[in-house]
Amino acid sequence: MKVRTRFAPSPTGFIHLGNIRSALYPWAFARSTQGDFILRIEDTDLERSSQAAVDVIIEGMKWLGLDHDEGPFFQMQRMDRYKAVLEQLKAAGHVYPCYMSVAELDALRERQMAAKEKPRYDGTWRPEPGKTLPPVPEGVQPVLRFRTPVGGSVVWDDKVKGRIEIGNAELDDLVIARPDGTPTYNFCVVVDDIDMGITHVIRGDDHVNNTPRQIHIFRALGHEPPVYAHLPTVLNEQGEKMSKRNGAKAVTQYRDEGYLPDAMVNYLARLGWSHGDDEIFSRQQFLQWFDLDHLGRSAAQFDEAKLRWVNAQHLKAMDDAALAPLVAQQLERMGLQADDRLPAICGLFKDRCDTTVALAQWARAFYADVVPDAAEQAQHVTDAVRPALQSLVQQLEACAWDKVAIGAAIKSVLAEHGLKMPQLAMPVRVLVMGTAQTPSLDAVLALHDKKVVITRLQNG
Ligand code: GLU
Repeated sequence: MKVRTRFAPSPTGFIHLGNIRSALYPWAFARSTQGDFILRIEDTDLERSSQAAVDVIIEGMKWLGLDHDEGPFFQMQRMDRYKAVLEQLKAAGHVYPCYMSVAELDALRERQMAAKEKPRYDGTWRPEPGKTLPPVPEGVQPVLRFRTPVGGSVVWDDKVKGRIEIGNAELDDLVIARPDGTPTYNFCVVVDDIDMGITHVIRGDDHVNNTPRQIHIFRALGHEPPVYAHLPTVLNEQGEKMSKRNGAKAVTQYRDEGYLPDAMVNYLARLGWSHGDDEIFSRQQFLQWFDLDHLGRSAAQFDEAKLRWVNAQHLKAMDDAALAPLVAQQLERMGLQADDRLPAICGLFKDRCDTTVALAQWARAFYADVVPDAAEQAQHVTDAVRPALQSLVQQLEACAWDKVAIGAAIKSVLAEHGLKMPQLAMPVRVLVMGTAQTPSLDAVLALHDKKVVITRLQNG
């Protein structure tokens, strides 16, 4: 049987890391089993859904390389299908009209609460052999309720949570169509999962309560339910459930802040799944290792410092030629145009950076004027060192422009003025790069244009 998984986000806010992890695992499971991964947008909440949120889902998945084989399907475009399936359920006697008004439902709830009972629909309108139903009120459009089986229980072997059994007595008769005939959430999900041939539903554990109801609808429609894996919540750094309401960032913001897609995949993979003690791995390794048997059972907590660390590891390991276009994009956002020196610049600076934004800030000194840090300039560019700087300008003017020749010029100035390397290197760095802390001076200067170096030294 071919594995078919799906990601079914509701576009009711900008998708954050906690949400996108629910895309990563079904994607990885499909990819690692040569299955299919389907994208379905659950946009039936018209008031809260927005096109902008759909765009962030699609952009974020594209950025992370979570490619889908089918879709995006939009639930709002499938209404006719849901209504047709609703007719099937009606014809088979699995649903019945319920005319209980909102006021009556509220009164029922209050009575139950007062009696310390769990609030639930009491089956007033559920037809049973020999039962007389109340008279149908005039001018009231009924909702349709699903007939939950009486007695027994629903059981499934959750791939994360283990065996779950819910007694049918716990479940009241779910509304599956509103008075205007529009189908409700749990029903649409099941019709989609059947039509899309989903074999494994991997989703957040906020849906565990829906699962027994969905399983009943599957069976009423003549299908066995898929395998379920309910992922524990992702908590934010304060230990609260990650949500846009408490400051979770849209996924695409991490792209803008200079995170690498492979590092994000690595980090997110570890938020709820493990392969021994492995912390840093490539996308290919992840897909080789991923399975549903090593999903964590407890909530995972987001840790920005760890994300930065993972990103730094990927940045260091990344090929300079592959890294350069990503840094070029960040430079472009700063209004700067990179050139063919950028891969070498990446190679020289990447060890001291944890994001492509940090790398672009270094690269900036090669593509825009620098303003030396005032305190560092005052500390290092002193009158005592100015004669040596002038000699260096002269030597560099006559120098072949490569790392070896530049290194030799620096050494000869040090000898001539009786200075130690830092006494000359610090002021040169401050003037050329804007700061005293840089990689090896000869390598840094060699990547600059000779004229630029000389002009910046003369400005000191
Ligand atoms: N649309 C639901 C959500 O965003 C997911 C439904 C599902 O995966 O079954 O939480």
